[in-house]
Amino acid sequence: MSRQAEWKCDPCRRTGLDVKRNCSWLDLKETTDKPVWARNGVYTTVCPKSIVSPDSEHWIHLFYSMKLLNQHLDLLTLDARTADALMTLETEYRKETLHA
Ligand SMILES: [Zn+2]
Repeated sequence: MSRQAEWKCDPCRRTGLDVKRNCSWLDLKETTDKPVWARNGVYTTVCPKSIVSPDSEHWIHLFYSMKLLNQHLDLLTLDARTADALMTLETEYRKETLHA
């Protein structure tokens, strides 16, 4: 795993929770089915901070920029991965705002 993932998990490491949270940079050989993070029926068995990619950070920034500026992108003009990411974020955003 990259140094970037290790850097993102600095709070996990400093608090001694990196093994318990199954941070991906540790590259633990034994995996667990035990959730380390959960919210509204969605969970992960690996520390979510350690698996955020530069692409996913870009899509989250793009999504929230669109929300802040009240802009809409034409999905047909986007590449498939970006369109899929924005649709996924919109779906999760709507679930979250409905449960707020
Ligand atoms: Zn972590």
